[in-house]
Amino acid sequence: MLIVLRSDASAADRARVVALIESLGFQSQSIEGAQRTAIAVVGNDGRIDPARFSALPGVDEVVHISRPYRMVAREWRPESTIVRLPGGRSVGGTEILVVAGPCSVESEAQIFATARAVKAAGGVALRAGAFKPRTSPYAFQGLGQAGLELLAAVRRETGLLIVTEAMDEAGLEQVAELADVIQIGARNMQNFALLKRAGRAGKPVLLKRGMAASLNDLLLSAEYVLTEGNPDVILCERGIRGFDGAARNLFDVNAIPAVKALSHLPIFADPSHATGKRAMVPAAARAAVAAGADGLLIEVHVNPDAALSDGAQSLYPEQFALLLEEIRGIAAVVGRRVAT
Ligand code: PEP
Ligand code: MN
Repeated sequence: MLIVLRSDASAADRARVVALIESLGFQSQSIEGAQRTAIAVVGNDGRIDPARFSALPGVDEVVHISRPYRMVAREWRPESTIVRLPGGRSVGGTEILVVAGPCSVESEAQIFATARAVKAAGGVALRAGAFKPRTSPYAFQGLGQAGLELLAAVRRETGLLIVTEAMDEAGLEQVAELADVIQIGARNMQNFALLKRAGRAGKPVLLKRGMAASLNDLLLSAEYVLTEGNPDVILCERGIRGFDGAARNLFDVNAIPAVKALSHLPIFADPSHATGKRAMVPAAARAAVAAGADGLLIEVHVNPDAALSDGAQSLYPEQFALLLEEIRGIAAVVGRRVAT
């Protein structure tokens, strides 16, 4: 950390900064410029709150030299994390995992029919919410425990891996018992109590980027899970709030190579929530794979027109089958393979 002083900072201002650094147990080093002086904090491991310095008299700005996260940083662990899943599947290596399914578990008939369609199209993992974080309290909230039990039954029949969301600490235990991967949704990305609990869950975690979260925020949230002892975190770009109404969100495809450079954790893309429109999902999915995504979340429904949530962005099963074909072609071009 560098504390840059104003050009009119007095000797007393400078001494105050140095004294504070030393009182915190660190060493200071002055860097004299032609107009201004900067004081470096030597050996700062990220624990100093920059606000301690930024409001002191004579201080112009506080500049970070190190990144605020450690365990998720590629700088400290150059090799990519590979998350192992049941059935010999893995995320973060050469395989691309396409996870598909309806937004919500709605009924036994709906989830079985959709799961069979996903499997018939070549899918290996099913995602559906039993607990749904809905913007409106009047919208369908999910079937809860009954939905989880239906997912367990679907896995027994189809062998598909199950990805499903936990919304709160109490629900996380229930979800962890059944899910192969626990999803933490965009609205919960900074629910730190939930992240800590997920860090002790013993199951891989799929952490979606919040709709107004920077990549720094996303990586710090992942850091919470890792610091509690769970290294198996998969990040997910799902679109951020934009100003244009043409799509539900602004799909930040840049996030994929950016995260890959900053972190060793795998990153998925969710073109369904990123676009909000069925017609746009395949293009965004192809772009994500081309950009290096380790997997996709695709909403698929046997009868999207009757879906209780996110029908407008859900693909018909035959569209999903076609998309998988396209993705296989793109994966090959970028040296990857779609899990089948
Ligand atoms: C979902 O995955 O169905 C969902 C609600 O997504 P997000 O948390 O990204 O909004
Ligand atoms: Mn959804």
